[in-house]
Amino acid sequence: MKFPAKILEESDNRKKLLEILKLGVCSNCLGRQWGMAGHGMTNAERGEILREYANKLTGSEVKEPENCVLCNNFFKDGINKIADEIVKKVRGIEFATFLIGTVVRGELERKQESMWEKTGIEDVETIKSEINREVGKKIEQLTRKKFNLMNPDVTIVIDMNMNVVRVHIKSLYIYGKYQKFERGIPQTKWICTRCNGKGCTFCKGVGKLYKTSVQEIIETPLLKAAESKNSAFHGAGREDIDARNLGWRPFVIEIVKPLKRKIKLREMERKINKSKKVNVRGLKFVEKNVIRKLKTDRIDKTYIVDVEFKNKIDKKLFKNLKTITKEPIMQQTPLRVRHRRADKMRKRSVKRFSYKIVGNKKMQFKVRAESGLYIKELITGDEGRTQPNASELLENKVKKLSLDVIKIWTGKD
Ligand SMILES: [Zn+2]
Ligand SMILES: [Zn+2]
Repeated sequence: MKFPAKILEESDNRKKLLEILKLGVCSNCLGRQWGMAGHGMTNAERGEILREYANKLTGSEVKEPENCVLCNNFFKDGINKIADEIVKKVRGIEFATFLIGTVVRGELERKQESMWEKTGIEDVETIKSEINREVGKKIEQLTRKKFNLMNPDVTIVIDMNMNVVRVHIKSLYIYGKYQKFERGIPQTKWICTRCNGKGCTFCKGVGKLYKTSVQEIIETPLLKAAESKNSAFHGAGREDIDARNLGWRPFVIEIVKPLKRKIKLREMERKINKSKKVNVRGLKFVEKNVIRKLKTDRIDKTYIVDVEFKNKIDKKLFKNLKTITKEPIMQQTPLRVRHRRADKMRKRSVKRFSYKIVGNKKMQFKVRAESGLYIKELITGDEGRTQPNASELLENKVKKLSLDVIKIWTGKD
């Protein structure tokens, strides 16, 4: 532990040192003005060395002041109060790593800056960085958790002006794949738009428009285990509410503000899979960036479409269906989604298309299509808005249709 003596060989620096001492600062605040000089010591130790040096220089004895003009004795008293408050705030939160952030504004910031103006010191450390480090050390001692700069479980923000501490808990991100066996279930919780979830006559007081959703079935055991109140669900696309999904669709469920992080995912899988409606597999913890990949990956899907036509099927027209894989499918935004999406033309291709007759008026189609193709409209034609379409090629109107996703081509499964 050595303060680089050559810094004080400069008369300019000696002058600055004496000037700062005259202001009445604690050893931390004094040492911090040369905080970047010399290794292996705290600013407080640095400050004491500097104070002794100055006393030798002037032959006087300037002691640490009762009250530091800069930090108002934060490093002597305030720091312990803050540390105690933090320990209280994180009690009950399961975490392994933490980060301290400090907000310095207003008076304290002005004081710091005016000191720099006077001294123009080059080796200063900011008060914010010293608080982060020193409080961090105390919290490490008190909680036995690790300070972590890159990816902490909790971030603790000390607001020096408001004199408050805020704790941000990092969400848990859990990746998996799901199947949906029942029609009529949306992928995400569908909050009633009229009452915003409060409950009204329109939603019969429940605050949502569907009894359950893939999200709710998956989140239930996870929220309980993580002691969290809500989740956000991110799927790699979504099937229609009235379509089943027998393929495995990737998703990330985000568990917001979890009090517990050590969750046994195999056990969660078993609990979710007790549902007859939704199954999951391959649950694993991931980082947030996986969501963006999930949203941008363009994945082919294969569907089975069961169709009942209005009239008897004319087999002579089957040869017309070849057009569907030969030409790109041009789709004007379907009538059924036009109220929530811009009306524009979409161009997608069908990679495989096969069919079989299952009755006088009934057929089953198997379609492998590029991501984003509207399958229902490929069959019905959507009043001519999708071209080509099976209905026009077979010269027969569609009476009824049901849809299953049977494969999601994610590569490895
Ligand atoms: Zn101070
Ligand atoms: Zn409502």
